Amino acid sequence: MSHQESRLQTWCQTWLLTQDAISSYKEILQVYWETATGLVNACCDGLEPWQIVGLTCSSTLLAVWLHSFLFQPESLTSRIKKQFFKLLRRMPFVGAIIQKKIDEALNDVTSSLSFLKDEKDYIKALPEQGMSQPEVLQKMKEYSSKGDVRWEDGKVSGTVYSGEKKLTRLLVQVYEEFAWSNPLHPDIFPGLRKMEAEVVRIACTLFHGGPNSCGAMTSGGTESILMACKAYRDLAYERGIKHPEMLVPVSAHAAFDKAAHYFGMKMIHIPLTKTMEVDVQAMRRAISKNTAMLVCSAPQFPHGIMDPIEEVAELAVKYKIPFHVDACLGGFLIVFMEKAGFPLKHPFDFRVKGVTSISADTHKYGYAPKGSSVVLYSDKKYRSYQFFVAPDWQGGIYASPSVAGSRPGGIIAACWATLMHVGESGYVEATKRIIKTARFLESELRKIDSIFIFGKPEVSVLSIGSDTFDIYRLSNLLAAKGWNLNVLQFPPSIHLCITQLHTKAGVAEQFLKDVKDSIEDIMKDLNAKTTGMGAIYGMAQSIPDRSLVAEISLAYLDGLYSTEVPGGEKHMNGSPGHC
Ligand SMILES: *Cc1c(COP(=O)(O)O)cnc(C)c1O
Repeated sequence: MSHQESRLQTWCQTWLLTQDAISSYKEILQVYWETATGLVNACCDGLEPWQIVGLTCSSTLLAVWLHSFLFQPESLTSRIKKQFFKLLRRMPFVGAIIQKKIDEALNDVTSSLSFLKDEKDYIKALPEQGMSQPEVLQKMKEYSSKGDVRWEDGKVSGTVYSGEKKLTRLLVQVYEEFAWSNPLHPDIFPGLRKMEAEVVRIACTLFHGGPNSCGAMTSGGTESILMACKAYRDLAYERGIKHPEMLVPVSAHAAFDKAAHYFGMKMIHIPLTKTMEVDVQAMRRAISKNTAMLVCSAPQFPHGIMDPIEEVAELAVKYKIPFHVDACLGGFLIVFMEKAGFPLKHPFDFRVKGVTSISADTHKYGYAPKGSSVVLYSDKKYRSYQFFVAPDWQGGIYASPSVAGSRPGGIIAACWATLMHVGESGYVEATKRIIKTARFLESELRKIDSIFIFGKPEVSVLSIGSDTFDIYRLSNLLAAKGWNLNVLQFPPSIHLCITQLHTKAGVAEQFLKDVKDSIEDIMKDLNAKTTGMGAIYGMAQSIPDRSLVAEISLAYLDGLYSTEVPGGEKHMNGSPGHC
């Protein structure tokens, strides 16, 4: 037999065998089919046709309901948990105990609101006759009187990033010139339009955007983040994603949660590694056909850690997902760090392929007044999804770039003036001083045995934790010494965000001394109970029912609008807000 013949024979045999296999499969399927149809027929035996139609309809409806019940933006477990706690609160004895605890907490929260030292009656209606200008200025003095916390002395974490008197005077002059301006009317204020365009272009240049890079000014970091999320949601809709999801590190700013809440997106929180960077593998596993955007922070707010932007960018490129880098906090530091002599370990801006947008706050380390920030895109095609147009409005064709309609031109002008006045050399100098102070504080704090610093902070935030004592006790004692640090949870820690005010002579040394003295006090009685604000934070963290914490926080927000003179007690400082 020739070679070819034998091959033909093998082929024929295989073919016959396959035929055999197929026919036996057919037989098996036939048996299954007959059993199945037989079963269904047996079930319907004796049923009227209308009953069969009715059953079919109701079971279809049930299946649709079940699908929409199981797959909602909020996970099933989270909803079950909520229902469970709701029930618990309705139970006779347990419910009463919980309510009592809530009332206590509400009391604590409202009495911890910050009031002026000698609170007088509130004005509740317009003065019948307008006050004279000197009278208004006199009245104003009552309101600008200082609280217990002196930010001018560098006692506060973040909050005020420059505070320089010379800059303040410039800002006031520029604001005066542009006090009545509004970028909603570029035809009336063409110079303001130019200023805004220049601020955005300068920011693009700082973050190494290409020729197609672009952006917009917003009222702050939150609005910048909202705008990027809105843009990516609409892009996702266009790509046919019905339920867009965002993959966001747990360390990222709450503005992303706000965006998910406002825009009906699903938030998927990605855990961190031990060094407090986002876990890239967990992020990769969370990617699905619904993923609308990936997020990293540069650096993140709680611990000041730079996320692994290059690695996440690789995912963004591979799966073709937009990628936002939140540099709201440190944006105007990290772009100057190389020139300041503190190069970062990894690139973070548009030079990293895959980064499609960046948010950076001019009103933080840009030293501009509050109410200004930029959101930048690598390409105009992303920004167009941010814009809003109402072509059919009776008031005219309405086109607006961001959330606000009318916007304060004075703030944009003041932001522009700040960038012009500080200049590259000013920013590099400030960055040098701030990072030097941060590195000095970090190395000194690391020498203290009973506390530790989270991860390897590369920028201006140092987050302190302890395995030896309740870190909120340190926060309390520092507050008693006039300091105002940020209180963080999951895990409990406190952080100092270093600004220009901390670079003044003696401030860092005073902070170290106060930390050391406080810890010495704490070590004298390791088992002492945490009191005051620290206790509130500790308790808030241990409550499994997060809706309770939310409820108590609502009371705090209510309290902000209170116009009742408090009952003359002594108030604690500190609030759940920040920055
Ligand atoms: C401050 C901050 C923001 C935005 O906050 P705004 O108060 O709205 O300016 C966003 N991300 C990070 C990391 C921040 O620190």
